[in-house]
Amino acid sequence: MPTALMRVRLRVTGTVQGVGFRPFVYRLAADLGLAGTVGNDSAGVVIEAEGPAAALVELEQQLRDQAPPLARVESVTALPLPPTGEHGFAIVDSVGTGAPDVPVSVDSATCEDCVTELFDPNDRRFRYPFVNCTNCGPRYTIVRSVPYDRPATTMAAFTMCAACQREYDDPADRRFHAQPNACPTCGPRVRLLATDGSMHAEGDDAVRATVAALSDGRIVAVKGLGGYHLAVDAGDESAVAELRRRKARDDKPFAVMVGDLAGARHLCDVDDDAERALLSPRRPIALAPRRADAPVAATVAPGLPELGVMLPYTPLHHLLLDGLGRPLVMTSGNLSDEPIAHTDGDALDRLAPVADLILLHDRAIHIRCDDSVVRPSPDGVRVLRRSRGYAPEPLRLPIATRRPLLAVGAELKSTVTVAKGDMVVASHHLGDLEHFAAYEAFRQAVGHLGDVFGVDPELVVHDLHPEYLSTKFALDLGVPTLGVQHHHAHIAACLAEHGETGRVLGVAFDGLGMGDDGTLWGGEFLVADLTGYQRVGHLLPVVLPGGTMAIREPWRMAVAWAERAGGADAAARAGAAADDRWPAVLDLVTRQHGMSTSSAGRLFDAVASLLGIRHRVTYEGQAAIELEALAGQVPRGAGGAYDYELLDDHGVLVLDPRPLVGDVIVDCERGVAPAAVADRFHRGMVAATGAAAARLAARHGCDCVALSGGVFQNELLRRGVAGALHEQGIRVLQHSTVPTNDGGISVGQAAIAAATS
Ligand code: ZN
Ligand code: ZN
Ligand code: FE
Repeated sequence: MPTALMRVRLRVTGTVQGVGFRPFVYRLAADLGLAGTVGNDSAGVVIEAEGPAAALVELEQQLRDQAPPLARVESVTALPLPPTGEHGFAIVDSVGTGAPDVPVSVDSATCEDCVTELFDPNDRRFRYPFVNCTNCGPRYTIVRSVPYDRPATTMAAFTMCAACQREYDDPADRRFHAQPNACPTCGPRVRLLATDGSMHAEGDDAVRATVAALSDGRIVAVKGLGGYHLAVDAGDESAVAELRRRKARDDKPFAVMVGDLAGARHLCDVDDDAERALLSPRRPIALAPRRADAPVAATVAPGLPELGVMLPYTPLHHLLLDGLGRPLVMTSGNLSDEPIAHTDGDALDRLAPVADLILLHDRAIHIRCDDSVVRPSPDGVRVLRRSRGYAPEPLRLPIATRRPLLAVGAELKSTVTVAKGDMVVASHHLGDLEHFAAYEAFRQAVGHLGDVFGVDPELVVHDLHPEYLSTKFALDLGVPTLGVQHHHAHIAACLAEHGETGRVLGVAFDGLGMGDDGTLWGGEFLVADLTGYQRVGHLLPVVLPGGTMAIREPWRMAVAWAERAGGADAAARAGAAADDRWPAVLDLVTRQHGMSTSSAGRLFDAVASLLGIRHRVTYEGQAAIELEALAGQVPRGAGGAYDYELLDDHGVLVLDPRPLVGDVIVDCERGVAPAAVADRFHRGMVAATGAAAARLAARHGCDCVALSGGVFQNELLRRGVAGALHEQGIRVLQHSTVPTNDGGISVGQAAIAAATS
């Protein structure tokens, strides 16, 4: 008796376009002897399959279990249909119906199969810098619109040759429907230009000439996946120093690219966590402890115990690193803190004064996407900059939004986020909006993200700070708006990432954020859920002398804190050791003149200055990072902690670090080793924060504490506080894939708006 035929329509959602999903379904269906079709539509992949019931069940199962490496299946729903007697299985064209809400997949590092071809003299793509397949290559950065198909990408300009077209059309081929498929005959080409735009070399000659120039210590601007890098031999002291000078970048660390894992091990202690991060197809920059004998110039990451390392993620990187055989500084192709250059014209304009040569190609980058930065750790990878390889992978909102919305984030480390239903998509890293170019990138990201994900916002969410350009942008859109308090957004971002709705005791420690009382917050204890918060504790506020000048000049905070902890004499000594302008600052402080702040970040800055580590910074957080590095020199488990007090102000807990700061001053004057002082300060802050959080959690009936804010990038503080709370049986939520710094704010804003509107 013949088996009864059944027909079913399967709808697959998630990251299923541009990742080889249709060919995968085609092969599955062929193996199972099913008839029907598979195609993309605006919601994902749609399959109609006809055959024996058992085979259809098997198909549905395998869709989840055997999905291609870059796919992320979120749901498979089945609808029974009457059989049609169809024969054969076919891939059908994308159907562009309705508003797209399909996740565009992330850019992915060159896969092993493609690397093998790249270095195989017998392969037709031998040394071809654009080899890719359905398992790897550019995605988000070349997509102009959806559905994701070649005409909608910057590869539309290239017509496939017969050989490439055959691969593209052959369901058995690794390049079946690989949209960026190309070869030396038909695809993009590299060119090496002098900075006046004249041609230096083309094709493989350009690659070889670039390697030679880098070997000679020249600086080359290299077009990558999401933008330009500035490349220089990482071991060449004078070349790296010259790059710093031309780029006007004083101390901020440069990332280093190494050819392979062994190369990374020459530079850093690479543990299993770091290895996993480095090898992941997302290929982020991973921060890892620097080896004392690391063969890189001292000026690569001055004063820091970690190096940011990454492995090659485009075929061009592989060719350069293979040719050079030593690590390369690969830092963002920009000046100072501007956004990375991603168009060729911009690169020639902006990078010509910095680079000696420019290695570019004719595959356009549609959307700029910086390298992501992660810190691997035993309790999970912490994403510090969520960009290439991560954006625009959607996250899920714990509470779906009833209205499509846009959240515009804060000001520094800017990201924007769109949300529709329970889907929430954060943009790539946009930089600091105080730069005009970053603001342009911000506006472009708002438009592109909305287009690609089909979100036409009916609500725009912004920070309470009236001076942020993001706030002004939001208020000018003519769409209903919602202001969200900065630290509430931090805690909500942490909740959202874990799919939690609250109610938790949130600890939000960061630089500065506008409070709901008009003062600047930054050391906050909030009882919070996604719908609201109550400020139940905070760090003792001090004057922020000179306003935002105090961010660039930690010595100002040292004067403010020394005055609170040790009186005017101590403050005068702290000021005199740092800057001639100290009397005016002391005057502001003693008169309590100007805005006050409860910022934890500024307290760390103050202590760094009191210790003489750094009185002025060239990038945000620098003083605190160096303070942590110093404390890290003291073995864990050795030495004591400075004291603190927990005060009560009408039922609001006040974390008073004056005893702690007083001890710092006394020990410094007694000549105690700065590392020991930094260590005891950290231990004191860990104890104070842990005790305050535990007490407040108990007082307010919270069984969970959420840690957020940029200060928790400090690993000594983060691990210490989390450990202290765990010991007391308290559940702790921490950031992992959403940045704990202001890069996560737009996600938190979206989560709050979804829950409240
Ligand atoms: Zn590949
Ligand atoms: Zn070709
Ligand atoms: Fe913040």
